[in-house]
Amino acid sequence: MTVNKHNSNDILIDKFNRVVDYVRISVTDRCDFRCVYCMDDEMQFVPRAQLLTLEEISKIARAFTELGVKKIRITGGEPLVRRNVIKLFEDIGQFSGLDELVLTTNGSQLSHMSQALKDAGVKRINISLDSLDAEKFKRITRVGDLEKVLASIDAALAAGFEKVKINAVILKNRNHDEVVDLVRYASDRGMDISFIEEMPLGIISDRDRAEAYYSSDEIKTDLEQVFELVPTTETTNGPSKYYKLTETGTRVGFISPHSHNFCDDCNRVRLTCEGRLLLCLGQEHSVDLRKVIRTHPEDIEILKQAIRDSMLIKPKGHEFDLSEKPVIFRHMNVTGG
Ligand code: SAM
Ligand code: SF4
Repeated sequence: MTVNKHNSNDILIDKFNRVVDYVRISVTDRCDFRCVYCMDDEMQFVPRAQLLTLEEISKIARAFTELGVKKIRITGGEPLVRRNVIKLFEDIGQFSGLDELVLTTNGSQLSHMSQALKDAGVKRINISLDSLDAEKFKRITRVGDLEKVLASIDAALAAGFEKVKINAVILKNRNHDEVVDLVRYASDRGMDISFIEEMPLGIISDRDRAEAYYSSDEIKTDLEQVFELVPTTETTNGPSKYYKLTETGTRVGFISPHSHNFCDDCNRVRLTCEGRLLLCLGQEHSVDLRKVIRTHPEDIEILKQAIRDSMLIKPKGHEFDLSEKPVIFRHMNVTGG
């Protein structure tokens, strides 16, 4: 066993001088929903033997925190359908040096898991909610039950997280007419909301992605018919551009990979459920950390060096183009959105 030579001055910095202090970890590619922008009708999931174990994920998360990472987001697939996942939150919640342990979820399991997540140290939760109309919600998620998700949002609010935020992917002619209602729903409950432009990850048979494109600027124009939005310089260290509703102070974010490229400030990397460290959401540059951790299970220094070395191949940015066939064949559930 190697002695832990953790140096508190370690930081991750890529060749474009961007400091990487945020990791998004996908703990499963499985999900109890089948959102049309995220998955195809028929999906092949990663065989269980190829998944990182929860212990391996925890070790990789620790290596990252020892390399200066301040924020870890647990995501998926649907992270809360992974068996015993609360244990992982409890482990990571104890790491010194980590400022924020956060979660992205579809909300289906939060009614019974909110308190355990809060107790484990989760500070903020993003919940996906694309529609307030049960039929439309079902059409977008293919199987989701709106009532259950709304009850989950209430449970998360009652558990007292620092923030519960809504994420909505907006698609033309599917839910673009709901942006005002979604903002009102969030604002009435003291939640922030972010609107996300669809990204071309993986092939989907549902429709042509370009046809359903609805830009952040269009959403903002729709909102401005009803609300006064004031730009704010506040940031959550992410790609959202934020505005505030003067009425209530609710923050409305726009994640706009197409219309406003966010790569210059990129501070993040992603770990897939198979242990692939993805250096960019929209490129294939990656390092196989599962191989490293399974070859040297006792040596966190080797793992840390592999992570440091990965900074050399972090690309400058993504090249999404909705008019082309996707160049990225992995779906968002694999990528860890
Ligand atoms: N299952 C959880 C959920 O839905 O929140 C976590 C994983 S999901 C992949 C994370 C986020 O990615 C969700 O807000 C989802 O709406 C978003 N997402 C999925 N596919 C997307 C795509 N092709 N383009 C943009 N956002 C996408
Ligand atoms: Fe599941 Fe989230 Fe993908 Fe929807 S967006 S299918 S909830 S992983």
